[in-house]
Parts: sequence; structure tokens; C-alpha cells
Amino acid sequence: MVSPSPLRPLEYDALKDRAVAKLQALVRIPTVSDRDPDEIDKASFDRFLEELRHHFPLLHKHLDLTRIHTHGLLFHWPGLSDQRPVVLMAHLDVVPVEGEWQHHAFGADLVDAPDGSPGGDKKVVWGRGTLDDKGCLTAICEAVERLLERGHTPNQDLWLSFGADEEVSGKCAPKAVEHLRERGVRPWFVLDEGGAVAHEAFPGVKPAIAVIGVTEKGVTSVELRVEGRGGHASTPAKMGPTARLARAILRLEKAPFHASAPAPTIELISRIAPHAPGPMRAIMKRASNRPNILTRALIAAGPESAAMTRTTATVTTLQGSPALNVIASTAKAGVNIRIMVGDTVATVMDHLSRAVHDKHVHLDVIEANEPSPISPYDDDDAFRLLESTIAEAFPDAVASPYVQTGATDSRFFTAICERVYRFAPFRMSKAQRQAIHSYDEYLGVDAFAEGVLWYERLIEQLPD
Ligand SMILES: [Zn+2]
Repeated sequence: MVSPSPLRPLEYDALKDRAVAKLQALVRIPTVSDRDPDEIDKASFDRFLEELRHHFPLLHKHLDLTRIHTHGLLFHWPGLSDQRPVVLMAHLDVVPVEGEWQHHAFGADLVDAPDGSPGGDKKVVWGRGTLDDKGCLTAICEAVERLLERGHTPNQDLWLSFGADEEVSGKCAPKAVEHLRERGVRPWFVLDEGGAVAHEAFPGVKPAIAVIGVTEKGVTSVELRVEGRGGHASTPAKMGPTARLARAILRLEKAPFHASAPAPTIELISRIAPHAPGPMRAIMKRASNRPNILTRALIAAGPESAAMTRTTATVTTLQGSPALNVIASTAKAGVNIRIMVGDTVATVMDHLSRAVHDKHVHLDVIEANEPSPISPYDDDDAFRLLESTIAEAFPDAVASPYVQTGATDSRFFTAICERVYRFAPFRMSKAQRQAIHSYDEYLGVDAFAEGVLWYERLIEQLPD
């Protein structure tokens, strides 16, 4: 049983009701982003910004606002010092609604918590964006609003960077970085979405693991392309474009990238080792001395943990001839690649061409992103501040760095900041984590309210 956060104040219930109402109002606005600007419902984004202004009057009164790109926002809250500025990030766009939802995806209904909800939540807010990422956005704003109500001034400059196109790798985040760079702001640390207070994170491990992403994989896409003569399907030649492409795909499948356990993964395993069941505990405790055994164990434990050990490449799209009786003159396969820290776009391209080993298969790079550098987590003041705030708010959880496999807007901030961390201060079950970008996304009301308190405490504790 998880006990309530020690940060809960006397007026906790009122705080919760007010914050939850704001989250509901913002989730109800369908801010779905799209790579094609013509497909975006701009009125929804306009309405979102109006609603935000309505719910957070003090924030809008006291913080300087710069509009970024389309609907991105960059708030500046001057602190007592500008020596160690901090950036808190979130995004206001969401992915489209997919699948069958038990409750309306933009209804933001308050419903009974499904079985197994972490943290003893009785009610949850149901809807697209509750976890990704309007929960963080609303919690950050509510924390700032509450601090302003008490007349608080932070010890350090605080910046809030809210993108409007995170889900489509848009321009808001890079433009916010450009703006900060022009103003000479070099953040002490940046905190974005990513990790969470993850319940049921490891088989057999009871406590929740508060995972803080210290690096993220680089998302890169490549197209395999084979050209040929095409022609009528009644007179095929051997090894046409489709057969050659199929062979290339199978060769890729048989050539996985080199696997190893990077330092944050070893750190994660050794931090949770004391909480693992008997036989596993011994293996995990020896993780740092026996990284090869650990790597093999992570690969054997399933795709999620295997992805923590290596660069992955998977064929996602296929294209041949448009008609059943026509031989393809071009056959293409899209490969989505997640590059692990240690590899680079160049080494990955080299691996792909060696694996395919066919000069008739062209490799076209569609998008290229390097993995993010590893932010410091060992004996570091900023990381320690995150850890101690987690310990205060979630005393039952074990905090740890980890390698994040998904991409966030914060990757752009590595250009101006050495410490980029990815953590959402919400308790999440395995089902909730799986609902992100899928269906039936929801956030517990207590999990959410405790997240507000976490951000509040973090800002209060910025050092002078
Ligand atoms: Zn997100």
C-alpha cells in the first residue's frame, strides 16, 4: 500500500479539486498536431492559450511571455539570481485519437479508478493528453500560480517552455532554444517529460521506480530503395526490386546492433537490486562488475528491456507496385532506427550498408538525429535536487537515472545545457504507460495533485 505524499498540505482537497478542474478544461480542447500545417485545427490551439490565461491569471500577470513559432510559449519568471536558470518543459499538443476508448477521449471525465491504479487513487481524469503531456503542463502552471499567490520569488530565474508541436518534431523547441541562446541564457538544468514514478516497472520488484531520463535515443529514419525495369507481371525476371528488397530486410533482421549495458542502465539495476527477489538480487548486485551477464539478461527479459541495451532498427513501411499485375519498378521499405548513446548516425549507416551488403539497395536518410549526451547524475547538485524532491514527495519510490527510449523536445536543449533531465512526477501503472500514444489514457487525481506539489517543492528549493 502506498501512503499519501508527505507534501500534502491541510487544504489538500481544495487544492486537488481546483487543479483537477483546470486539467479537465485543458484536456477537453483537442490540440492535435500534424506535420501538415493545413491539417491543424488552429482554433483549438488559440482556445487552449485563452483557457490557459483564464486559469492561471497570476502566472500571466507576473511572468514575461514570448510567443514561440505558432502556439509555443516561453515564460520567464525572474528570480533573485540569474546565475543558475532552470527550464521546466511540457507540450500542449497531443497525438490523434486511436482505438476504442472506454470514455470519450476529449471528455476529460472524472471516472472511478480502474483496478490496480497506483497510489490509492479513487478517481481518474480520462482523456488524450492527461499523461502526455497536459498533466505536466497544468501541474507546472498550477505550482507557479500557487507560489505566486503566496508572494514567492524563486531563488533562480525560472523559464517555462511549452511547445505546440512536440508530437510532430516541430519547430517550437528549437526556436525556444534559439531565443534563450540569443538572450545569453545557459540553463543550469532543464526538466521535461519522460520518466515517471513507475509502478510495476520490474518483475518481482515491489517499490515504484522514479526513473529520470539522463539521455535519450536518437530517432533516425532510413528508406531502403531498389529500382528496376518494372513491366508486366506475366514475364518476371529473377531478383526484381521486391525480391531484392525482401532479402535486404531479412539481412537487416539477422544483423542486430552491438548490445551493451550503458552506465545509466547499470546504475538503475544496482539501485533496484536490493528490492529484487532472491535469485535475481544476486545477479543484479553484481551488475556493475559483470555488464555482459546483465546485457544478456536484459535482452532475454523482453523487447522493452532489450531496447535499453542497443540501437534498434525495424522496418515499418513497405511499398511496391500499385497494381497486382504490374511488377514494381521501385520497391521501398522504411526503417525506423533508435540510436543508442555510443553509436552515431554515421556508424549506424555503416552498419546498415554492411548488413544489407547489396549495392543495388540504396539507403536514403529521411531524418537523422543523434542520441543525446548523458547528463550528469553522479555527485551532481542538480540531479541531487531532483532525487531529494522525489524522496520527499514519494518516500516509497526508488529514484534512478535511466536511458530513455522515446524522444522528447528536451533533446534540442542539449545544445545550450549540460543537464537535461526527463521526468514527470506522476505515479503511473504499466497499463497507463502503455496507454500513451495508444487508447484509454488517464491520470489519477491524487497522482496529479501530488505532481503539482512536487513541482512546487522543486521550485521552492532552488538553491541561492
Ligand atoms: Zn509527450
